[in-house]
Amino acid sequence: MKIIAATGNRGKIKEIKKIFSPLGFEVITQKEAGFDIDVEENGKSFKENALIKARAVSKLCNDYVISDDSGLCVDALGGRPGIYSARYAGADTPYPEKIECLLKELAPYEDKSAHFMTSVAFITPAGTEITADGAVYGHIIDTPKGENGFGYDPVFYSDELHKTFAEATLEEKNSISHRGRALRALYDIVKNEGLV
Ligand code: IMP
Repeated sequence: MKIIAATGNRGKIKEIKKIFSPLGFEVITQKEAGFDIDVEENGKSFKENALIKARAVSKLCNDYVISDDSGLCVDALGGRPGIYSARYAGADTPYPEKIECLLKELAPYEDKSAHFMTSVAFITPAGTEITADGAVYGHIIDTPKGENGFGYDPVFYSDELHKTFAEATLEEKNSISHRGRALRALYDIVKNEGLV
C-alpha cells in the first residue's frame, strides 16, 4: 500500500514513515509520485489548509494521501502568527529576522505563553477524509537558544522538555511535538476504524 505525503519536507516524511510504516504503508512524497504541484493554502484554519493540500493530491491519484499544516500560536498576540507562521514578517524573510520581529512585537507583554499546533489530513482512495490535531505548549523566551530544529525552535521553550526545541535532540522533540502527536492520533483513528 502506498501513501503519498503532500509535502516535500524530508523531516516530515521521516516522521510520517516512522509512524505509518508499521501499518504496511510505503510512504512517498508527492514529487516522487510525479505530482509537482504548489497549492494555495487559503484556508482559515490548520485543518482547512491540511485538507486543501491533501485533496489537491488525492484528486490526481488512486492512493492514500496524507498532509499536514502547522504553526506557532502566541496567546498575547491572539493566536498569531498561527496559520501565517511561514509568511510572518514576509514569506522570504529568514528565520532570525522573523524571530527578531516576533520578540519585538511580544516585548510589551508579560504573558509569553505559546503553543505549536498541527492538523493532519488523511484521504483514502475511496474518498474518506480523516483529520487529527496535535499541540505542544510552552512560552517564547527573549533570547534565542540552541542550534537544532528549524523555524521558531530557538525561542520556543517547551514546558515538558524544560529547554527550547532548538536545544532538544530530534528524538526528544519528536516524542512530544505537535506533529508527532497529530500523526499518532491519526494513526489510532485509521487503525481503529479499519480504514486500511
Ligand atoms: P508548515 O506546516 O510546514 O507550512 O509550517 C508552517 C510554519 O510553522 C513553518 O514554516 C514554521 O514557521 C512554523 N513551524 C511549524 N512547526 C514548527 C516546529 O516544529 N518548529 C518551529 N517552527 C515550526
